[in-house]
Amino acid sequence: MEVAENCSVKVAVHVRPLIGDERTQGCKECVTVTKGKPQVKIGTHSFTFDHVYGNGASPPTSMFDECAAPLVDGLFQGYNATVLAYGQTGSGKTYTMGTTIRNGSEAGLIPQVMNSLFKKIETLKHQTEFQLHVSFIEILKEEVRDLLDSEPVSKPATPNGNAVKATVQGRPPIQIRESSNGVITLTGSTEVAVSTLQEMAACLEQGSVNRATGSTNMNNQSSRSHAIFTITLEQMQKVQLVSAVNDTPDEDMGEEYLCAKLHLVDLAGSERAKRTGSDGLRLKEGIHINRGLLALGNVISALGDEKKRKEGVHVPYRDSKLTRLLQDSLGGNSKTIMIACISPADINAEESLNTLKYANRAR
Ligand code: ADP
Ligand code: MG
Repeated sequence: MEVAENCSVKVAVHVRPLIGDERTQGCKECVTVTKGKPQVKIGTHSFTFDHVYGNGASPPTSMFDECAAPLVDGLFQGYNATVLAYGQTGSGKTYTMGTTIRNGSEAGLIPQVMNSLFKKIETLKHQTEFQLHVSFIEILKEEVRDLLDSEPVSKPATPNGNAVKATVQGRPPIQIRESSNGVITLTGSTEVAVSTLQEMAACLEQGSVNRATGSTNMNNQSSRSHAIFTITLEQMQKVQLVSAVNDTPDEDMGEEYLCAKLHLVDLAGSERAKRTGSDGLRLKEGIHINRGLLALGNVISALGDEKKRKEGVHVPYRDSKLTRLLQDSLGGNSKTIMIACISPADINAEESLNTLKYANRAR
């Protein structure tokens, strides 16, 4: 197998501007971006990453062009990829990923990814056959929930009056499977075949609405879950066969099949669980979320450590559903970018510092 040139994990920081709440509270900015360098400072702490965006970063460059476009290109060459948005609740993860629809250049990464994907397909479709699928799931408390499931939530009882023995949703739970060649698949989740940009955007919107609606019955649930929008690209390319005898082009055309996927992940809020609530419910959720983020931190840091990698050190993918699901798209030949999102406000300084430290482990 061909190995990617350099380590596959890149890290960017996105500093959002002060928002209404912070302004009305009279917050001051405590994050500075070093001019002309991908460097951020909080107090006496200074960190350098692959890219820094926002808060006067100069020159203003395109996050999509630098972070996501190479991953889209890789997809056409058969490389899996993952974009991760990390940060405390309110730091701008959803804004950065663009799961809430905005327009034009203001659009987040996912809409821009979709745009460029279809543009590229348009230029290649005379020589290649394409098939696209999307799925959109959420991991909450180590359980996978389908955000594209349009079926009613509960199933009726059986004719003899017994309730159907299944999950709360009345469906078998979604499972993460690994095939013998290391390919990870989800069983039981909706895979939508899409052929236009509009169809794909509709999936993004439907899932985003589902994620938001699911959160109304429990206290701010969406900030505790990981939302994963996955685009799978299959290609059947017509290739000219080369004669093995004299290296000249054959009469026959052969076909080459490629399949790769891109995961776009809006991670759970990275803030520590508040130990409130007498029933301990809040605490339990916090622990589960931490499991995914903790495992992700460990996986990424193991991948980023070249020395460890050469020694064949164990990468702890199996420690959480999140890392299990992303296993074939983190490390190896796949490309990964983590975008650490932070608020510039002084009241969030501690959480922003935690985020920068977490992101720094990935380098
Ligand atoms: P998170 O998903 O991390 O909880 P959000 O993406 O919902 O955070 O952002 C919190 C608030 O900040 C939202 O009102 C959002 O519109 C605003 N916001 C986030 N990032 C930016 C940005 N780069 N520029 C302007 N507003 C932003
Ligand atoms: Mg969000």
